[in-house]
Amino acid sequence: MSNKYIGAHVSASGGVGNAVLNAEAIGATAFALFTRNQRSWVSKPLPQQEIDGFKALLLERGFEPKYVLPHDSYLINLGSPDEETLAKSRAAFLDEMHRAQLLGLTMLNFHPGSHLNRISEEECLDQIAREINLALSQTEGVTAVIENTAGQGTNLGWRFEHIARIIEGVDDKSRVGVCIDTCHTLAAGYDLSTEMGYQFTMEEYERVIGLKYLRAVHLNDSKKGAGSHVDRHETLGNGALGRDFFVRFMNDSRFDNMPIILETPDPSRWADEIRWLFEL
Ligand SMILES: [Zn+2]
Ligand SMILES: [Zn+2]
Repeated sequence: MSNKYIGAHVSASGGVGNAVLNAEAIGATAFALFTRNQRSWVSKPLPQQEIDGFKALLLERGFEPKYVLPHDSYLINLGSPDEETLAKSRAAFLDEMHRAQLLGLTMLNFHPGSHLNRISEEECLDQIAREINLALSQTEGVTAVIENTAGQGTNLGWRFEHIARIIEGVDDKSRVGVCIDTCHTLAAGYDLSTEMGYQFTMEEYERVIGLKYLRAVHLNDSKKGAGSHVDRHETLGNGALGRDFFVRFMNDSRFDNMPIILETPDPSRWADEIRWLFEL
C-alpha cells in the first residue's frame, strides 16, 4: 500500500461538491480546489446546503478532509505595499480561511505575496506574517500553508529563507505550514532534476525551514530549467525535472501522508499521470 495521496487541482464549477466527483473521476486520493471565484475580490457566502453536500460527498466517496487542499484567489497579496490592495487582500484571505473551516478542511494554500519594488523584502515578509496572525486569530482549525514560488517578478517565497522568516513571525506555529511546488522549486534555482541536487535541496529545506512544517506538495514538471524564475508547469516527466525526479519523489517517505496535487497543464492526462506515478 502506498502512503502517497495524489490528485489534481480540479474544477469546482457548479459547486464545491463537483470537485469531489471530478477528483474521483481521475482516480485521485487527494485534491485541490478553489472555494470561491479565484479572479474576483467578492464572493457570495457558501450556502449551508452546499457545505453539507460537500462534507457528505467526501465521506461517501472516501476522501479524508486532510487530503483536500483549497487554494486561495490569485488576487490576494498579503505583502502588498498598497493600502487598498492590502485591505482587500486581508478581507479575502480571512474569507478563504473561513470557507475552509466551514467545509471541515484543515488547510488553506496560498502564495505569500509581492513587494512590487516599493518596500523591502524584509518589510514585505514581516507584513505577510502579521496578516497570517490576523487571519489565524479569527479562525479555528485551519493551517495557513505557504507555497514556495518561482520568484517571478517581485514574488517572494522562492528562497527557503523567505518562508522561514514568515514562519518566524507567526505566533501560532502549529497552524502554519509549507506547500512545496516542485516546478517553482526548480525555477527558483534548487536543482531537483539531479540526484545530488535533490539531496541538497531536501537538506537545505530541512536546515532552513524544517520538515515538520511540510504539509503539502504541488507536483509539477517545469517547462523551464533551474534558476529560470519562470513559472510554467509541464506534464510529469516531460519537462526539466524529468522521469528520474518523479521516481525519487515517489520513493521518498518524507512526502507520505500529505496531499500531493498536480497542476499540470492538460487535465485530460491527469488520470494517466496519477496512474504513472503509482507505477514508479
Ligand atoms: Zn503550485
Ligand atoms: Zn506555478
